[in-house]
Amino acid sequence: MTISARSQHNSSGGPAAPSADAAVALRPLAVSASRLTGGFWGPRVAANRAAIPVLYQRLVDAGNVGNLRVAAGELPGTAEGGTFRDSDVYKWLEAVAWEYARDHDEALLDRLRELTRTIAAAQREDGYLNSAIQVRGEERYARLWMSHELYCAGHLFQAAVAAARATGETALLDVATRFADHLAATFGPGRRPELDGHPVVEMGLVELYRQTGVRRYLELAQYFVDARGHGRATKPGFDPSHYADPAHYADRVPVREARTLEGHAVRAVYFAAGATDVAIETGDAELLAAARRLYDAMWRQKQHVNGAVGSRWDGEAFGDAYELPADRAYAETCAAIGTLQWAWRLLLATGDAAYADQVELLLYNAVLPGVSLSGTDYFYVNTLHRRTGARGDVQRSPAHGRRPWFNCACCPPNVARTVAGLAAYLATGDEDGLQIHQYAPAALSAGDLEVEVETQYPWHGRVEVTVRRAPDREVELALRVPDWAGGSTVDDDPVPAGGYARLRRVFRPGDRVVLQMPMPARLLVADDRVDATRACVAVARGPLIYAIEQPDQPAGVTLEDIRIDPTAPLVPEHRPDLLDGVTVLHATGVVVADEAARPYRTYGGPAPAARPAPVTLIPYYAWANRGPHAMRVWIPT
Ligand SMILES: [Zn+2]
Repeated sequence: MTISARSQHNSSGGPAAPSADAAVALRPLAVSASRLTGGFWGPRVAANRAAIPVLYQRLVDAGNVGNLRVAAGELPGTAEGGTFRDSDVYKWLEAVAWEYARDHDEALLDRLRELTRTIAAAQREDGYLNSAIQVRGEERYARLWMSHELYCAGHLFQAAVAAARATGETALLDVATRFADHLAATFGPGRRPELDGHPVVEMGLVELYRQTGVRRYLELAQYFVDARGHGRATKPGFDPSHYADPAHYADRVPVREARTLEGHAVRAVYFAAGATDVAIETGDAELLAAARRLYDAMWRQKQHVNGAVGSRWDGEAFGDAYELPADRAYAETCAAIGTLQWAWRLLLATGDAAYADQVELLLYNAVLPGVSLSGTDYFYVNTLHRRTGARGDVQRSPAHGRRPWFNCACCPPNVARTVAGLAAYLATGDEDGLQIHQYAPAALSAGDLEVEVETQYPWHGRVEVTVRRAPDREVELALRVPDWAGGSTVDDDPVPAGGYARLRRVFRPGDRVVLQMPMPARLLVADDRVDATRACVAVARGPLIYAIEQPDQPAGVTLEDIRIDPTAPLVPEHRPDLLDGVTVLHATGVVVADEAARPYRTYGGPAPAARPAPVTLIPYYAWANRGPHAMRVWIPT
């Protein structure tokens, strides 16, 4: 069964492009209308570009590409690894697509076409596609709680939509629609009742609907969203681990009734992002309200200071409210990316600057730490505290430092597609104006309004927006003033933090608007209910969360012995030579050292002796680029 997809070269947006009828407050820019031109993200994007062939080789070495080639009949052999492995290839293809949209490198297009041919050849006649299941001759959908068959489909759909938007070519989209038609004929009312244990197909189906206009893809996503929460994604029978716990799969409580996120963090946030997509496309205000309520609950109770989510290693899971251990933070890189995708969708739906603040927090402090400055090594687990002498046990332990690859390699290609598509998150707009959410040197256009952004953000808080082209009528230029940016001005007029400064006027080419955001370093404390960080402070400056790392401290000082003086000034110094150029913060503190001290002493008894010492902080994202060293975000006072 095939359908002829109405394959428009959708020019309206990158990774999430609501349809013309969607209930959204903001519209993403066309892929070509949002271009990063350097600055902070320039080297990060370049490193990500350089990593794309490196990641391909790792996908070959790990057998992911081979699985598809065996399924396609191009190679003899067996299938390697878990049934989720096709998804890593699809995420890599999505990275290739966004990278091609950015840079039009024909070599990438050739690679995309070549792999698309293999994937098309691997697809079964009826549209089904999972290389490992096919090669091993396993029964389809027999272990759906753990087989990731629809999870792989979701990532295929996202890659196919990206490829169509970036290149205008639809070969991968044809594979995706055949698979989606197969799913629509297999799952739903009166058909198979089980659900995939790992969400993402919801987001993928909605994007496929947006790209093709085929409404049954949206209807299937809508069905998957409301069918969840009744134990149908959960491993049946008894299992002493989390595998029989519906909460693990975001499957314990229907989303409309849920009051908090629980269970596996990536599953939970991917599902919530998909539910938000469905709400946007169906105009379902109740569903959108549920998604907002869940985000709000997460933000208030279950997010680490850097925006990351996930508190438990067991089940890669959210913890209870305020269960946010710095040293055992799970904070999977994929969970940060899923949260970013969710926040972006809520921003589009509502226009609420708080979600753009979240996008910023997540990008700098939860997604970016997942990758090395070289662009080629990754954290799966992002701890907020590595102890001196920490020993890495399992492969994903952050004590090892970043690694090239993982047995379960979901995070590396997820980073690659996110950084490749980064420009999509800068701004939104339409004929009536432009909203700039993230500050970076960029060329942006919405309707007939075209601007150039110049800034040294996040090191400096000055942003210059120069109009290059403008319509002969009033339009609005909106600039986000982050929630941390009290005392900001636009063209010297004070503007409140935590919203948008809106300028409505007839702009002329050459007009310049200057946003000035003061960036004093600030100390953050956690609510006392966050027991793990009590009596500590975290340090932030502008959008960045800071950390202390061993190599920046005086010789002979062990990181654990540092106490920071919260009353002393925090002095910024830009260091172009350090960690690809960072602004460090100089603080004052003391060093307490008593090698013989036991972990407990009598309350009110003599405190250990202390001597003054300078303390130097670096941006958290830059840690672990000089080998694995002790590091902490939460610093005792
Ligand atoms: Zn991951």
